[in-house]
Amino acid sequence: VKRFKNISSSVMSVMPDRVVDLLHDIGRMGDEQGFKCYLVGGVVRDILLRKNNEDIDIVVEGSAPAFAKKFAAKHNARVAVHAKFKTAVVIFPDGFRVDFATSRTEYYNFPASAPTVEDASIRNDLFRRDFSINAMAVKLNNSEFGTLLDFFGGQRDISDRKIRVLHSLSFVDDPSRALRAIRFAVRFDFSIGPHTDRLFKHAVSLNLFDRVIGPRMFLELKYILNEKNYTKALDMMKKYDMIRFFSKKVQMDDRKTALFEGLELILDWYSFQFEDEFELYVSRFIVLFWELDREDIGDLLDRFQLDDGKTKELLNNYIETKDVVNAVSRRNVNRPSYFTQFMDRLSTPCAVAASAVLGEQFEPYVKDYFTDYRFVKADIDGNDLKEAGVKPLMIYSKILSSLKNEKIDGKCLGRDAQMKRALVLAKELVKNG
Ligand code: ATP
Repeated sequence: VKRFKNISSSVMSVMPDRVVDLLHDIGRMGDEQGFKCYLVGGVVRDILLRKNNEDIDIVVEGSAPAFAKKFAAKHNARVAVHAKFKTAVVIFPDGFRVDFATSRTEYYNFPASAPTVEDASIRNDLFRRDFSINAMAVKLNNSEFGTLLDFFGGQRDISDRKIRVLHSLSFVDDPSRALRAIRFAVRFDFSIGPHTDRLFKHAVSLNLFDRVIGPRMFLELKYILNEKNYTKALDMMKKYDMIRFFSKKVQMDDRKTALFEGLELILDWYSFQFEDEFELYVSRFIVLFWELDREDIGDLLDRFQLDDGKTKELLNNYIETKDVVNAVSRRNVNRPSYFTQFMDRLSTPCAVAASAVLGEQFEPYVKDYFTDYRFVKADIDGNDLKEAGVKPLMIYSKILSSLKNEKIDGKCLGRDAQMKRALVLAKELVKNG
């Protein structure tokens, strides 16, 4: 039977040796303790797609926490147990992680009429998952290492390039799966299977998404916005009339398309120039919800029910970006230092979003800002001012930032010129109180 194909050669060719060794070791430990162990979920899908994925999820038909503790001790790794969910994560000294979960149902709870009683427990665990492509497992116990368990047509759907739920109530059980369906469809360039598509539309028409808890809505949106082809995902969300579950005021129109195009150009340019990494979703989130006002964005963030710190951070990102865009576009920016002073108020993802909204007209400023202006410092520092006897200390930061601005505007370059200018500025500042 196709379902029992052995894919150990794919496992070995796709995964790094170190991970393959760990998987063998998990299988051996399973044998010793009399537990069956499986590699499950997204990583199995990715092995079949020949993509490396280092999110290792293991299911143990026994106690995952007990198993994980032994595994961690053997490898000098840390373990964090989530007793309530019978899960555990093992974290190696270099940060590499392996997640362990206890098979959701023991086989004796499963009706004896199951196709193969022996695999009933893992089958039942897999049946609770979202899509056929994510509901496969690989046996790790040594005698059967590499045996692929595919009860729901995952291999077929990978070759047909289809996202398919496992049963008709899947979106009712968990409507957030609809967002996941879009995410995987876009990531792999798969389509949504016809039956799944009907169930999806039905879920939308029943407004089931209003029932999804806030943090889950946020997380799934964040994952979507972190995907490379997220604009395709947004198009699908629009097609399924799902954007309204986030906000009824979002306009997915030509202007928004153009904004996203501009944003991606800047993001590409930025990542080509600089090494620093930041979460792409933040820039994309701001642009997606650009037309919302303060109250609307407040409502949206309330809906997400994130912790206060995260809510504040997102709200500030959003509001500051808007303020900067308003300020810059209202004023006639004819000096780079003006532009710099405003942009300096923003974190990188926000500055990038602001640049996208400001548009082509500001492109030269934007590029100079990122490559140059944001790093500019005055040629003299506080010690120089002190040595020159400038008083009081209170005015130092004002002097230095004026010098920085003049330097950005190409005036007053070099230490000597700046020192002279500093003394003039100091006099003026003191005179004006
Ligand atoms: P990624 O490659 O983005 O990490 P993944 O497939 O590993 O994707 P996760 O969100 O890490 O996705 O979930 C791991 C596995 O857990 C999935 O492959 C799927 O089998 C299962 N899963 C996750 N979320 C759900 C859900 N809402 N309903 C059912 N099963 C889920």
